[in-house]
Amino acid sequence: MAATISESEIRQVVSQVLDRIQSAPMATSWDSTQYGGRKLIGIFDDMNEAIRAAEAGYRAVRAMSVEQREKLITEIRRLTREEAGIMAKLGVEETGMGRVDHKRAKHLLVAEKTPGTEDIVSAAKTGDNGLTLIEMAPFGVVGAITPSTNPSETVICNSIGMIAAGNGVVFNPHPNAIATSNYAVDLVNRACKTAGGPEILVCSMAKPTMESAAIMQSHPAIRLLVCTGGPGVVRAVLSSGKKAIGAGAGNPPVIVDDTADIQKASKDIIDGCTFDNNLPCIAEKEVFAFRNIADELISAMQKNGAYLITAEQAAALNKIVLVEKTDKNGKVKKIVNRDCVGRDADVLLAKIGVSVSKDIRCIICETPFEHDFVQHELMMPILPIVRVDNIDEAIELGVKAEHGNRHTAHMHSKNIDNLSRFARAVETTIFVKNAPSYAGIGFGGEGHTTFTIAGPTGEGITSARSFTRQRRCVMADSFRII
Ligand code: NAD
Repeated sequence: MAATISESEIRQVVSQVLDRIQSAPMATSWDSTQYGGRKLIGIFDDMNEAIRAAEAGYRAVRAMSVEQREKLITEIRRLTREEAGIMAKLGVEETGMGRVDHKRAKHLLVAEKTPGTEDIVSAAKTGDNGLTLIEMAPFGVVGAITPSTNPSETVICNSIGMIAAGNGVVFNPHPNAIATSNYAVDLVNRACKTAGGPEILVCSMAKPTMESAAIMQSHPAIRLLVCTGGPGVVRAVLSSGKKAIGAGAGNPPVIVDDTADIQKASKDIIDGCTFDNNLPCIAEKEVFAFRNIADELISAMQKNGAYLITAEQAAALNKIVLVEKTDKNGKVKKIVNRDCVGRDADVLLAKIGVSVSKDIRCIICETPFEHDFVQHELMMPILPIVRVDNIDEAIELGVKAEHGNRHTAHMHSKNIDNLSRFARAVETTIFVKNAPSYAGIGFGGEGHTTFTIAGPTGEGITSARSFTRQRRCVMADSFRII
């Protein structure tokens, strides 16, 4: 019997094929060694050579005063501000993910709010036995792995902090964002040279691979590994036998209770969830809303650019955004479809045959707690909403959905007890109250920024001091002035 296919199914297939063609990376057009005919500085074919160059850079920085080092950072900030638009556009074009205006804002945030040498402070302890000095020293050459989701942002943010601490750096960036990441490596080197630094201070690979990452991880000159990425790569560096900082995956829950300002909460949540199309690891990923305010919240979200889909449409979308993969043990598991990560909401809706305008920036749907959209870190502007009866249920489910990542969680409430209870229970590195998620990294919230949030290894919102080692100098029975 011949199978029949409906017109809407044909439309869906055509739309998916077109999307794939449009979003497929143009492998041949991305040259990670040059930009606009200009050869990028600090890019190597061989990881061992890259490490050697970063070592030379480290020795040059070691010989500089802190004041000179700060001059390098000032110039990195200036160039980042100047070229934020170029990197934002390049990032979206190369990866097919995110939004140019938001990526530009992320670069400006890095330029403004990543701490420099002022973060490196010494401590002195005096007593009957004299003076002890504790200083924050560089490690030497840092090996850094960076993600595709915030590629140049992470390279520049890491570079500022690592250079402020006096280190050289070698990057093994995500292969899907290599042109963008290497543009940022070149920018840092150009800035350093202009400000009187060495020719090359930070290095990267023309073609980073798992093999080049493995060489980096086992090379004796690499004294510290800093990894920003998903669970697989963080696990790999943490088992390297070296000192490692791991900034891993999140799945941030948001609780909205019935004391919240619902209109503000709806706007804050949609603003945060859709920032760079949900690529930031801190962005809102699932909502637990009190049953008595859920309708009002959903309707306010719709007024703020969200499109509500039915359970059937959510099921159809689920089949597209998550795909099954058999692991090496023969176990079938669902993983996110890379072709959907960081895509615009209207592009994702078109995949299930729903046509909306570009004003729609988020897809919302009501789901049970067990739904894949709640359980998986999608990194797309898709926001599932689970109704809960009370704060006990909200906290229990919110903590479960965070999966013990201890990364980020959010809450909208005016009840101090509820806010405190969730903050204590979820134990995340970042907890944002009554604001969009990005307030947690200094965008509209107090405090410095980072794109490497190290929950697993405990450094938290990393900054220059995270990339130092403590050294102590003791003068016994002397050097006191009282
Ligand atoms: P990813 O995990 O796919 O890859 C990150 C980098 O690791 C890439 O360079 C990749 O090539 C490399 N890699 C992967 N497995 C490796 C291994 N076994 N050994 C060596 N290198 C390996 O990252 P992505 O998809 O670009 O980023 C998204 C993930 O990163 C999300 O889970 C997100 O939450 C997380 N993330 C976390 C932070 C944070 O600060 N905690 C920041 C950004 C992204």
